Amino acid sequence: MKLLRFGPVGQEKPGMLDANGTLRDLSAHIDDLRGEALSQERLAELARIDPASLPEVPAGARIGPCVAGVGKFICIGLNYSDHAAETGAEVPAEPVIFNKWTSAICGPNDDVIIPRGSQKTDWEVELGVIIGKGGRYIDESNAMAHVAGFCVVNDVSEREYQLERCGSWDKGKGCDTFGPLGPWLVTPDEIDDPHSLGMWLEVDGKRYQDGSTDTMVYQVPFLISYLSRFMSLQPGDVISTGTPPGVGMGQKPQVYLKPGQRMRLGIDGLGEQEQRVINDEERER
Ligand code: ZN
Repeated sequence: MKLLRFGPVGQEKPGMLDANGTLRDLSAHIDDLRGEALSQERLAELARIDPASLPEVPAGARIGPCVAGVGKFICIGLNYSDHAAETGAEVPAEPVIFNKWTSAICGPNDDVIIPRGSQKTDWEVELGVIIGKGGRYIDESNAMAHVAGFCVVNDVSEREYQLERCGSWDKGKGCDTFGPLGPWLVTPDEIDDPHSLGMWLEVDGKRYQDGSTDTMVYQVPFLISYLSRFMSLQPGDVISTGTPPGVGMGQKPQVYLKPGQRMRLGIDGLGEQEQRVINDEERER
């Protein structure tokens, strides 16, 4: 099942993508894709609905972030051995974790805003994991029972803010629009193996990232178990699991985003995102 949210910013409704690629309105069945609606029981109820019985979403509707009520947006750093190498870092002995602020979350095709003064805005295609059942001290063997679904994440990153401005990485990770989520929340039954998915990212048609989740160092069940030792996980939390090589910082010479460029990115079975890059001065409101 591919679930989504559609409509203007802040007024999104829940929806479903049917087998013909038509967007269907789920709002008669659930309020939103958040909290308890992400439990296995509620998702199983949604799976029993005949999509043809649901109204079609009007053509041209904006797609919003594929989950609402995100309490934590947790990221794993340097989790692909080949990406660690391109940044000159060692694969860490334990997962590196950092935050994206939830105010960074946006729709998969919304504009990405280069912050004021930024010279080093960069891209990272990543597999996102959406928690459906909370817990703490989760056993690795049972970790996948806590997953509501997977999605594409662009972990947009400002490298100067991340690495040259003192302290943790968070300054460069949580700027507005640095967290496109979606287009779909894809339930685990549609993904045979989350550790064997092709993933790619292009800027203006040039393919910079062309990797696979099969080079992920710390895999999804371990990450869920690991994180739950340090915090309780809750429905709607998003874990972004790291990026393969090909980020702008890893190019020689380094390459960063400029206003007017377009990013396209995708992961096998999870759909595609496309973002226009704009200056902060061009943002609406
Ligand atoms: Zn990342």
